[in-house]
Amino acid sequence: MRANRWNDRTLRLCVAAALWLPACGLHAQPDPIAFGGSNYYPPFHFQDASGTATGFDVEVLRAAVAEDAELRFVFGDWTQIQDQLAAGTLDVVPMFVSPEREALYLFTDPINIEYHLLYGRADAPSHRNLGSIGGYRVAMERGAYAREQLRSLAPDAQIVEAENEAQALRLVASGDADLALLPSTIARYTMEQEQLEGLQALSPLLLPVTYAFAVAPVRPALVEQLNEGILQLQRSGELQRLRERWLEPGAEPPRDRLFWAIAAVGWLSLGLALWLWWRRRHGAPEVFDTESRLLLEELRKAIAERRLAWVYQPQYDVRTQRIVGAEMLARWHHPQRGAIAPDTFIQLAERAGIIKDITLQALNQALVTLQDWQVADLRYRLSVNVSANDLADRGVVERISQALGTRGEFLTVEITETALMKETQAILANIELLRAARVQISLDDYGTGYSSLESLKRFAFDEIKIDKTFIDDILQSERNLKLTQASISLGHDLGALVVAEGVEDEDTIALLVKTGCDVLQGYCICRPMPAEEFVSFSEDFNRQSTQTPAS
Ligand code: C2E
Ligand code: CA
Ligand code: CA
Repeated sequence: MRANRWNDRTLRLCVAAALWLPACGLHAQPDPIAFGGSNYYPPFHFQDASGTATGFDVEVLRAAVAEDAELRFVFGDWTQIQDQLAAGTLDVVPMFVSPEREALYLFTDPINIEYHLLYGRADAPSHRNLGSIGGYRVAMERGAYAREQLRSLAPDAQIVEAENEAQALRLVASGDADLALLPSTIARYTMEQEQLEGLQALSPLLLPVTYAFAVAPVRPALVEQLNEGILQLQRSGELQRLRERWLEPGAEPPRDRLFWAIAAVGWLSLGLALWLWWRRRHGAPEVFDTESRLLLEELRKAIAERRLAWVYQPQYDVRTQRIVGAEMLARWHHPQRGAIAPDTFIQLAERAGIIKDITLQALNQALVTLQDWQVADLRYRLSVNVSANDLADRGVVERISQALGTRGEFLTVEITETALMKETQAILANIELLRAARVQISLDDYGTGYSSLESLKRFAFDEIKIDKTFIDDILQSERNLKLTQASISLGHDLGALVVAEGVEDEDTIALLVKTGCDVLQGYCICRPMPAEEFVSFSEDFNRQSTQTPAS
């Protein structure tokens, strides 16, 4: 009897547990994930000699999902793989993001930005952009993302179809095509693997495009799960490590355990060296007095609560006599202390290492504004100030180019000379990335740094902004006028647009127009104001300007 009762209770408990545990998720197995990819796409995904799936996005997927997630890998014909994803027989297929694809699949946050380059024989002429390749035979993979872009940017180019990227390069090597337009990582990998000598990149980075996991429309929960994993990988630096391992120059395919053991020791030593270098370079942490510490706390809060605002100062084009754009300037209205000057809080944020948060908010604001203007069919350009530390940050730069879409040509990034004195290599590479997204680069506060000429020597700026301290007294100081005139003609000789900032009166405007300055900005034209006011001011201004033709 007793035994029976025990058995009975145990049985009931077991049944309850069997029903309850899976409901609580304790024993729940995550759904298996079927990953699909084309059968030729190293170093993004492929199979090693033992047939094990590996490569950049295979490893990112492995790291982003739960450890016990069951993964299945299917490699095959690219068109069929895409059809299977749309039908839901595959769950995840990494690919470039495009509006057409967004209509078919769900997409996770980006895991990489990829650029295309033109490759050709070393003795062939180089190209600054796709505009100059009309008439050339350009090899590219069938169904490649870049094909659509080529059709609109270089309709006269003759496309030579290739089965995959490797074949596109081989066609150039054999003389059956003049150029190949390929994602840079794959091209580099293939040239190394196949020892295609005599070929080289003939263009800067072109066509930046976001790379992410496309997910079958029937699995929206998987997108959230992957985004969570990607965020963790980003925060821990693992995503960057995977990029470096697989996609950076010199990355090699996996060999064996010994290779990875040696590589791991190498990475650890590199990490240690970088850490020591960072310590030496940055020295002791910044020390703040009590007043600054309090202000900094308030600033952190204001940033977190998104209480910083941006105002827009119009820029006047001398030739067309129209407002052609605006510079976005940050404003912080403290509830008790009132307006705090940007010079104060921007510098504080830079010293405390939180300027990136402000820059990212400014960039978001800029993108929203550019979208609003696009919808309203307004073609104003927008300039954003980007601090030194941010320009060396690849994440920030990638974020800009990712979010811009086709609006890149309407954004100008203003950099000060002091920014350029730091970590030149990283900044140089990042400036190229921005250029590839068609963003204009402006040298702010020109003439105030100690090495303006050095900056001009190293970087091809699209715009030079002569600092207000020169403009202020060109009416009184012959010397400053001469320096301004010389800066304008130097800027023009270098192919840059020259902007004068801090123009406060009509006489200064007249003198600057005479000296050939292109664009003017200052209180005399208009003070900075909120976005809506900027639009109504500029529209009114330009309407009047059209009615009063230039004399
Ligand atoms: P900046 O980039 O040189 O910006 C121009 C500054 O000159 C602005 O000061 C603008 O209001 C002021 N200004 C324009 N026209 C005149 C004029 O005719 N006369 C006078 N006296 N001033 C004029 P603001 O807004 O106080 O900004 C100061 C600095 O703070 C900026 O100098 C820039 O370096 C920094 N800053 C402002 N917003 C941002 C931002 O969003 N991010 C970053 N990183 N820095 C910012
Ligand atoms: Ca500026
Ligand atoms: Ca300035």
